Amino acid sequence: MNAADAVTDALRELHTRYAGLRDGRLADYIPQLALADPGAFGLALVSMDGHRYSTGDADLPFTVQSVSKPFVYALALSLLGLDEVCRWVGAEPSGEAFNAISLEPDTGRPANAMVNAGAIVTTALVPDTRDAPRFDRILGFLGRFAGRRLDVDEQVYASEALTGDRNRALAYLVRSAGPLPVDPVAAVETYFRQCAVRVTALDLAAMAATLANGGVNPLTGDAVVPEPVAAHVLAVMATCGMYDVSGDWLLRVGLPAKSGVSGGLIAAGPARFGLATYSPLLDPAGTSVRGHLAIDALSERFGLHLMHNPALAASTVTMVTTADDLPAAPAGERERAHHERVAVVAAQGALDFTAAERVLYALDESGPQETAAVVLDLRPVTDIDTVARAMLRSGLDRLTAGGRRVAVADPAGRLVEEGDEAGAARRFASREEAVDWCASGRAG
Ligand code: GLN
Repeated sequence: MNAADAVTDALRELHTRYAGLRDGRLADYIPQLALADPGAFGLALVSMDGHRYSTGDADLPFTVQSVSKPFVYALALSLLGLDEVCRWVGAEPSGEAFNAISLEPDTGRPANAMVNAGAIVTTALVPDTRDAPRFDRILGFLGRFAGRRLDVDEQVYASEALTGDRNRALAYLVRSAGPLPVDPVAAVETYFRQCAVRVTALDLAAMAATLANGGVNPLTGDAVVPEPVAAHVLAVMATCGMYDVSGDWLLRVGLPAKSGVSGGLIAAGPARFGLATYSPLLDPAGTSVRGHLAIDALSERFGLHLMHNPALAASTVTMVTTADDLPAAPAGERERAHHERVAVVAAQGALDFTAAERVLYALDESGPQETAAVVLDLRPVTDIDTVARAMLRSGLDRLTAGGRRVAVADPAGRLVEEGDEAGAARRFASREEAVDWCASGRAG
């Protein structure tokens, strides 16, 4: 094995570690699925920059099955909105197997869109018009997630259509229970076709990466769904994507995920990556045995667990002092007398909610009693997101409202843009200018 790069090396190592494992069984309730090669094993990862990594049978086609569910849910959410979809399909983990009768006792509403009953209703919610037949919409949409045109494995479709009475029964049960605006029974055949769409592990990694990337396909740049839809789908994957083992999966692996009975498995690291595995030998919960082990190991190795966020070592606030402790600009010498009255807080890095809270805390601590003015030095700041900008601006406004002079050293205009003096804080290119302005403004 030649060394490639850290990611490919990790995928190859996992492939080698688990390739020999023969635990699990092929799904056979859809007879065509029992013909899969039990030795097939592929892994793929797509980054937010669209870098693709893979090993093993990552280009081998198989049918998407239940891994289609989060993407069709995304389609329904983007067409109808969250509230409307939630009227017909819940978002509670059912704690039951994928084909259980997970219906709310009083309304007949399926527990969530990841179990079959909920997925069938979700498919039914996708509008079916002469110009845009329901299945064409779904196929086209799945293709945009994958970044290429997809097609249907007609043999697997026919095989499930022949044997899918349990899903038909679920659809009849849903229809019998409540006043749905759409017909789930008519949609079951579309659901079978959606499950028979052919993909590879690399396709699935791109699809998961699109969800992780706020709905924008990192390979094509296509904005497939709005960012809130991607977030909602990931949330339901996190709580319900692995059926009755969703809790244990979130506990140990810590990533939104979705399994399918053909052996596909996806996991998404929000804002980080999309990951997919293919290996058709399943455990009793219907999860790919090797896929589960590989993703678990990768999460552990690269520290990908969502809840595992140790406090960032890098500090945001690099300095809290007063200007008399800093070298002054020559022009500022005459103001030197007042420099002990000017607080200086410096921050660095990318500022988000957490970082903005740190900066505001430091500003508050910078001595409101003793200092008449404060300089916020943002020169080493690389980025300020919209949340942090709003927090900082209102924090600075509060300081000026409290009677302090506030100046920001912000040459790049990250917080206070050119010509935008809406807030009371003044912007300067250098810290020295900001300090001088603050010191000169103190009348004695
Ligand atoms: N088409 C399959 C079914 O409905 C999908 C199930 C799955 O992948 N878990 O039974």
